[in-house]
Amino acid sequence: MTSYAALTDEWLRGVVAAGFVPGVRARARSALEDLLEEFVAAVRAEPFDPAPGRRIGVELVDLRMSAPPVLGTTVHLLAGQLPALLGEQSRERVLALLENLSVGFVAAQRDLAVRAAEEMNRSEKIHWRAVQLDLQRRLQQALLHSPDTGLPNEQHLRKTLADLGGGRSGLLLLGLDQLDELADTLGDERRHRLLATIARRLRPLGILAHLAVDLFAVLVPGTTGPDDLIKVADQALQLLAAPFPIDGHDLHVTAHAGLVERPAAGTDPDGWLHDARLALRWARHDQLGPALFDPARADDERRRHHLAAEMPAALDRGEFTLHYQPLMRLSDRTVIGAEALARWPRPGAGLVMPLRFIPVAERTGLIRPLGRHLLEVACRRAAAGPGGLISVNLSPVQLRDPGLVASVADILHRTELPAARLQLEITETAEALQYRSVLTGLAALGVRLALDDFGTGYSSLAVLTTLPFAEAKLAAEFLLDTQRRDVLGHIIDACHALGMTVTAEGIETAEQERLLRELGCDHGQGYHLGRPQPTLSI
Ligand code: C2E
Ligand code: CA
Ligand code: CA
Repeated sequence: MTSYAALTDEWLRGVVAAGFVPGVRARARSALEDLLEEFVAAVRAEPFDPAPGRRIGVELVDLRMSAPPVLGTTVHLLAGQLPALLGEQSRERVLALLENLSVGFVAAQRDLAVRAAEEMNRSEKIHWRAVQLDLQRRLQQALLHSPDTGLPNEQHLRKTLADLGGGRSGLLLLGLDQLDELADTLGDERRHRLLATIARRLRPLGILAHLAVDLFAVLVPGTTGPDDLIKVADQALQLLAAPFPIDGHDLHVTAHAGLVERPAAGTDPDGWLHDARLALRWARHDQLGPALFDPARADDERRRHHLAAEMPAALDRGEFTLHYQPLMRLSDRTVIGAEALARWPRPGAGLVMPLRFIPVAERTGLIRPLGRHLLEVACRRAAAGPGGLISVNLSPVQLRDPGLVASVADILHRTELPAARLQLEITETAEALQYRSVLTGLAALGVRLALDDFGTGYSSLAVLTTLPFAEAKLAAEFLLDTQRRDVLGHIIDACHALGMTVTAEGIETAEQERLLRELGCDHGQGYHLGRPQPTLSI
């Protein structure tokens, strides 16, 4: 990686090679240094404005660095090296500034030429024109093509996308995996040849572009539906899967494909590329082959993203609360406790339900402080009441936290809730059941453990005998299928045999309640027995 100083030196060498006769070299260098500084400031400016590029182009000519190759050198150097210095995301800005720089340079040069033309003869004029055309061509090449393969670059692809006619089109992004590591072992020269070979293989598939070293795009105009593009994607992946013989070695490249297929009208180049990049991320994440852009999934992700961003502050403001749903003993319909269920009354957006925000909190890790907060609220409220069980949900992510047992103990201590009045619900997942020592630690505090949604996971009864669960909560799904009455009876009996009590969830009818009572189920929960409410009455 070069520094600004090295870049300035190289720029000066290029300018001198282009025929600039430096009067005082040091002065020329410091002038270029100033221009580079100005250029970098323009790249970083918020909001971005490419206009300063033009002024820098004019200044180069004013400094008498007006020979045509100066522009070529400048574009080549700055486009090639600045993105590495300023971060890859700056590439577009650098290119936009260079485009303006060339406009300024050529305009200023033309002014010079017009003045000079009065003294020029005809053949000199023809020569000058040829030089200008050559310059333009090289500038186009540098601005619109990949330095690695000479293929159209992202800028170029954007222009092509903007010019798409009516009808449908497809855009396929191909991301190569681990090219950096491969490049380190290969060296630049072989990497170059590998990329050239990849380009040759992909070229027949459509309009090919090379957006970043490890990112190719194939534009397929005139598709009739997503299937057309999926076929192209499958072909592309197949072509890339075949080994690449370089210097007698068979190199292997793996790639993922993100796809967008839609009517060309109504999406701008930014939209195409954004959506295709998103689809490529899905392909990498899901590992299920080519991923087609899906607006519903994108919407959902955007909403989750917003939620994730807002949740920490909402937690600080104390916005998360609990609703409480009664747990009833079926034999005599006594309320023996309540399950605490998380709620987020999000200002301006209504009541957000836990199935929306708990998975987001699990992904961001916020579930730990959020879970502690909810547990504390539940324990404090329960401690203020006369008695009864308070049942709080724990996420598997919380079980991973080695500090969990200590933190539960601390909350019990501070809220003065007797441990026997707290029940922790742990969903039956393979992951949750791995944390045997945490589960044992919690049970040792005197807390009851309940296996939530029992029957949806795959824990065998044998596993359960070795874990300290005092209670099984039967998933509501069991109640929906009256054909499974026998199965239900067996499961209840088996749980009893293991010393567990059984709660049936999701009881919605008197009929279901009666059936469960007959089968000897201990407790029930459901809309028929009591809905979740903001107040706790135990
Ligand atoms: P869950 O633990 O299985 O909670 C029972 C869910 O069933 C609750 O939904 C409850 O409102 C709903 N429900 C109760 N009775 C009936 C009924 O008769 N019919 C039907 N169809 N549904 C009924 P909710 O409150 O939306 O919670 C959904 C899930 O979110 C919970 O399922 C639990 O897995 C999770 N969750 C809720 N609160 C917390 C929490 O504080 N921490 C964690 N980690 N997860 C929570
Ligand atoms: Ca639960
Ligand atoms: Ca449940």
